[in-house]
Amino acid sequence: MAEQNDAASVKKGRILVFSGPSGVGKGTLLKRLFDETDFPLTMSVSATTRAPRPGEINGVHYWFMTREEFVAKRERGEFLESFEVFAGGAMYGTLRKTVEDARDRGEWATLEIDVKGAKRVVEQIPDATTFFIAPPSLDALRERLLKRGTESQEDINKRLAQAEIEIAQSDFYQYCVVNDDLDVALRELVDILKRSA
Ligand code: ADP
Ligand code: 5GP
Repeated sequence: MAEQNDAASVKKGRILVFSGPSGVGKGTLLKRLFDETDFPLTMSVSATTRAPRPGEINGVHYWFMTREEFVAKRERGEFLESFEVFAGGAMYGTLRKTVEDARDRGEWATLEIDVKGAKRVVEQIPDATTFFIAPPSLDALRERLLKRGTESQEDINKRLAQAEIEIAQSDFYQYCVVNDDLDVALRELVDILKRSA
């Protein structure tokens, strides 16, 4: 009986997958989720070949690396999934060990990845909980990308084109949260996480 109680008290690890167009507010929403709730969340820091934006820190926002380093990791099977997210652009990948270690510690490994990556993760981890964060409109998305001011006009156009492709696949996800009012979106997310825990 004691053994059963011990087993029941062990925290159950989870994998949470978040996708949504670049600029929709995933980072903003997740920061608030981490700062304002006490879920046992741990961010899965991805690897990427893109250059850091001002203020981005290696090992915190991404593991920044060259394409050669990235390809070597991929060949060693270190990625749960990896893709070139925007055509002709940088590579991004989820590190298998980061996710497995977090889950083994009973934490909720939180992945912020594109739709192709999310599908690959669900193939391998069918009990992952998946969220699509949608913009209220494409115009609102363009405004947010412009306001963020971290991409060139050409990159903004690439991201908007990709956004339409991703929004068309949002049915794949278990939950779709529209990030119109940030507080409302956060509340909705928290409710879903509580219900699905
Ligand atoms: P993502 O991580 O999805 O690429 P960000 O979190 O960087 O997007 O958000 C992009 C921009 O949109 C940021 O300038 C952010 O402050 C702004 N933003 C986020 N959520 C909202 C919202 N609900 N309403 C208006 N602006 C928002
Ligand atoms: P950004 O360059 O704006 O940080 O990210 C661009 C896109 O790459 C976003 O849609 C983000 O979700 C996606 N992305 C970030 N990390 C990964 C990853 O490890 N794998 C995949 N497949 N996509 C990722």
